[in-house]
Amino acid sequence: MITDLVQIKRLGEQKRAENERFRRHLKTYRFVERKLRQMAIETEEQIDCLQCANCCKVATARLNERDVEKLARYLRLPVTRFLRDYTEESEEEGLILKRDAQSGCVFLAGNECTVYDARPGSCENFPHLTGGAGSLQSRMWQFIDRACYCPIVYNTLEQWKVETEFSPTAK
Ligand code: SF4
Ligand code: SF4
Repeated sequence: MITDLVQIKRLGEQKRAENERFRRHLKTYRFVERKLRQMAIETEEQIDCLQCANCCKVATARLNERDVEKLARYLRLPVTRFLRDYTEESEEEGLILKRDAQSGCVFLAGNECTVYDARPGSCENFPHLTGGAGSLQSRMWQFIDRACYCPIVYNTLEQWKVETEFSPTAK
């Protein structure tokens, strides 16, 4: 299992084209989704997110209405003040938590989430390997990027390739 973030970034970038071919491979290979999900769960169990926190540093955290209400209540703030102080609009993703290019999410302190009990659904379910909207196949495009910064995604994809008889060298 590779957990070193420098290695993950290097290997994930190196395997972008391969992972894109793997995404296409899954469209035709008859896999058992339950089995792949179980493999992802087992990988998650072996990786300590508190030692990593890279998604909070690298990825954006999208918010829906429910997340906003929950976070504002948790912080005991009026929704308008919460929106002003802790959120921003992203052109591609809509409403997201404010972030800093160096330190990541506004609520990250060290490697810990200071609003853990009220964190947005997009954080709670990250990296969305074992669940999420749509089928695993329809979410596969997201994992190519995530394999460049999330050890759970990188290692799971590598295991899925073996399980589904994917040949990295086949075009
Ligand atoms: S979900 Fe992935 S990127 Fe986020 S903390 Fe866990 S291993 Fe790191
Ligand atoms: S809200 Fe918490 S879990 Fe979500 S990105 Fe920010 S620090 Fe990470």
